[in-house]
Amino acid sequence: MSPTDLPTDAATAGAPAPAPLLTVRGLRKSFGTNQVLESIDLTVGRGQVLALIGPSGSGKTTILRCLNGLEVADGGAITIGGEVTIDFGRVPAPSRRDLAALRDRSAMVFQHYNLFPHKTVLENVLEGPVVVQRRPRAEVTAEALALLDRVGLGDKIDAHPFELSGGQQQRVGIVRALALRPQLLLFDEPTSSLDPELVGDVLRLIKELAVEGWTMVIVTHELEFAREVATEVAFVDAGTIVEHGDPKQLLRNPTQERTRQFLHRLL
Ligand code: ADP
Repeated sequence: MSPTDLPTDAATAGAPAPAPLLTVRGLRKSFGTNQVLESIDLTVGRGQVLALIGPSGSGKTTILRCLNGLEVADGGAITIGGEVTIDFGRVPAPSRRDLAALRDRSAMVFQHYNLFPHKTVLENVLEGPVVVQRRPRAEVTAEALALLDRVGLGDKIDAHPFELSGGQQQRVGIVRALALRPQLLLFDEPTSSLDPELVGDVLRLIKELAVEGWTMVIVTHELEFAREVATEVAFVDAGTIVEHGDPKQLLRNPTQERTRQFLHRLL
């Protein structure tokens, strides 16, 4: 398994910054009169991992949902892979087809797994690639079986989600995202529904994917994980990115008072 866009070796000290895979400019979103995103700017290089941290209700999930086309932003622009740019400020507004192009380039792993309860593990993984992307079932099945085997679920392909632990369900959620062959993986608090003893396995799998060079945006409250795995951390508060930077630097020594207060409450 490898990401569609292999990264340049950006981890090498002194290497130039990798070409951006994701660029977000001036993203805005309101729900009714509640302005949830003010003007979000983000850049994520190929093979880089951005962790979004911040208080509950600050807009982190909404950022991910806009990136994945699950929410339609009110303004701003999203570019993925340098080729698909969706300008939410333009008239007429982006069409369903535009949003589908956005969705096609990223895949989301949800907090509550969001598996189809009436489908088996294998059917859950095949649904997107076969039904939505219309790829050949035999090819996708071979890929799905290899992925499920890799995450230790080779013997669960015919099980239904209710027969699995939360950790196993989330591993299916991750395999389902990988099977879409996205350029960008989006994780929305992937471990916050899990019992503490199941968190480690899922975080280890995400870390392996980071090492393999997948480009990711991860909303997380696991600061130690963010410090270890992310190449950049952004602190989101009240719909704005208050500060962003190197995880070790930002988490230990934030420059903004709001970040300091947030970290202080968590530590
Ligand atoms: P976070 O992920 O940081 O906890 P969210 O992006 O989930 O924050 O939510 C940000 C704000 O947007 C919250 O006030 C939330 O109630 C509101 N919100 C999110 N989704 C919707 C929606 N579909 N309809 C109305 N309000 C929403």
